[in-house]
Amino acid sequence: MPADVEEYRARVRAFIAEHGVPMRGEGVRVPADTAEERAIRGWLRALYDAGFLGAGWPVERGGSADHHPLHDLVLMEELIRGDAYRPLDQVMLSSHAILEFGSDEQKDRLLPRIRAGEHIWCQLFSEPDAGSDLASLRTRAVPDTGAGGGFTVTGQKIWSTDAQWADMGMLLARTDPTVNRHAGLTAFVVPMDLPGIEIRPVREMTGYAEFCEVFLDGVRLGPEHVLGEVNGGWQVVTSGLASERAFVGANAVQLERMFDDLVALARAARHPDGTAAIGHEDVQATLAEALARIEEVKLIVRDTVERILVDDEHPSDGPVAKLAYAETNVALTETAMRIITSAVSVDPEGVEVADRWYHNFLWGRALTISGGASEIMRGLIGRQLLGLPRA
Ligand SMILES: Cc1cc2nc3c(=O)[nH]c(=O)nc-3n(C[C@H](O)[C@H](O)[C@H](O)COP(=O)(O)OP(=O)(O)OC[C@H]3O[C@@H](n4cnc5c(N)ncnc54)[C@H](O)[C@@H]3O)c2cc1C
Repeated sequence: MPADVEEYRARVRAFIAEHGVPMRGEGVRVPADTAEERAIRGWLRALYDAGFLGAGWPVERGGSADHHPLHDLVLMEELIRGDAYRPLDQVMLSSHAILEFGSDEQKDRLLPRIRAGEHIWCQLFSEPDAGSDLASLRTRAVPDTGAGGGFTVTGQKIWSTDAQWADMGMLLARTDPTVNRHAGLTAFVVPMDLPGIEIRPVREMTGYAEFCEVFLDGVRLGPEHVLGEVNGGWQVVTSGLASERAFVGANAVQLERMFDDLVALARAARHPDGTAAIGHEDVQATLAEALARIEEVKLIVRDTVERILVDDEHPSDGPVAKLAYAETNVALTETAMRIITSAVSVDPEGVEVADRWYHNFLWGRALTISGGASEIMRGLIGRQLLGLPRA
């Protein structure tokens, strides 16, 4: 990283050490109570106020004139390293979509509330029968017949992360079923407390409930809720999804932290003969393999960083980083489970780390699905990077 970016890193690190709100566990983002919710909203606001978040926005909307594209990556790396609560993807994606497609009125109304930590956003895209193939979604936004320009929305969404505490939702719904399925979709900005919206949290196998089913039953929306053009929703949501994948570069730091946990686990896990797992050759070989995989991810991130510096980013950068991170994460959790199951006990100092691995093992799969499943990433890489024909 250039020296000025490293200087920025030092400032971010000091800020996080002084003010950061901790994460309770990987993928655990919904506040446990009102005190934690207040702390998280305050923390997000502090990051915007300090100029660390939203620095890439236009200057007149609070952005910073000397923003460097690598600052965002460094910020995410340091949040992970400091175990601080990470800004919600949904909030960042919504900001990008509003900045790119919003009217001046929407920007004036919505963006300051994001910066103040007042508006948490969720994404209302996926449906029970529309995930990877999002354009097949069936939620209808039927235009009013009168001159008002309003819509009535009916349908069901699912896997909506943070919907239970979000103030706003970015909704994708079908406004014209008679045209090409990508062409008949519209994006809406929706207050989550409107009549007709019912939110039911879904319990995950980790025991937490981080995402929800959202039922929309005759929800009335006005023209001020349309983001971008009517029937132009596909462009709005796909621009955001692409930027979501780019954030994952910072996750190489996460993998490094996981490796430290893997070594700590191998030191604390006892085999039947009383020796620590780390003394066994097969465990050492597994650790070496894990480290090699992490080094591969770090090289991918370094390659991306080098190309960001010379303005030579490629559409496949996000999918490559996402795939490498998600699959390596799962591989590490499987290694941890092998270490645990080959042991008969864990020393007291390793209990906390073992608990973390149980959670990460159950949570890790989600990463191979959210933000585009691994199979979809492989398809994108095949077409965009390797130039393979569509199967
Ligand atoms: C932690 C998490 C958070 C999420 N948060 C949100 C959110 O906030 N808002 C939201 O709207 N959605 C959210 N989602 C939903 C997510 O976007 C979908 O789960 C994802 O798009 C996959 O869709 P699906 O679950 O319907 O699976 P499907 O699309 O039905 O896929 C099932 C399987 O088939 C494979 N498959 C599908 N199509 C192809 C293909 N063309 N080629 C090869 N294989 C294929 C997939 O890879 C997968 O293995 C979240 C999901 C997770 C796990």
